[in-house]
Amino acid sequence: MVKILIVEDEPEMLVGLQDNLEFEGYEVDTASNGETGYKKLITNKYSLALLDVMLPDRSGFDICKSARKKGIDTPIIMLTARGDEMDKVRGLELGADDYITKPFSLRELVARIKTILRRTSAQSDKPSSDAYIKIGKLNVSFEKFDAYSNEGPVKLSHKEFDILQYLYKNHGGVVTRYNLLDHVWGLDYQPTQRTVDNFILRLRQKVDTPEEQHIITVHGIGYKLVL
Ligand code: CA
Repeated sequence: MVKILIVEDEPEMLVGLQDNLEFEGYEVDTASNGETGYKKLITNKYSLALLDVMLPDRSGFDICKSARKKGIDTPIIMLTARGDEMDKVRGLELGADDYITKPFSLRELVARIKTILRRTSAQSDKPSSDAYIKIGKLNVSFEKFDAYSNEGPVKLSHKEFDILQYLYKNHGGVVTRYNLLDHVWGLDYQPTQRTVDNFILRLRQKVDTPEEQHIITVHGIGYKLVL
């Protein structure tokens, strides 16, 4: 569901925007002053925010600037009161994605919203590096060092994550014990090959199902991960 935050202090304007955007099929959240708007923007996940520049307490510029400083990358369209070039430039410099000058037609606003949403959804369709990968009965995020199965969270040690990630990068191919020792432990500190085997044994209990083996032993050489 696409959720849009509107920060606008003029009640008629706020209600008008809310009604129209809801009519367009968007979920809408509102704030009628800058501080509330800012708090909502930095604590909730929105697909887009409309920020009025002229607010009684803090300006839309200020909200935009502070949110960007905090790393909030929600697309922002500034609603500027005047056709002031300085306002437009300033808004974009502070990290807004677009601006629209009041009075504007709703059709134009909706068109701008759609353009930005198309752009951001195209970006989020790209495989994200923190996406969970399915390996056997595990769903794993190597970015977050997190794993879970149908039965709930599964605890993996750092080394286990490293081994699994290395096997995953090379899945389908054979990884020798030497490769694993080199990549996971480093050449300076070398545990015995027996240590590797013990780690693999523990990983198997977390990855394999009774029906399916995913970490295959290649006798005399090493291991192979089959997805
Ligand atoms: Ca205003």
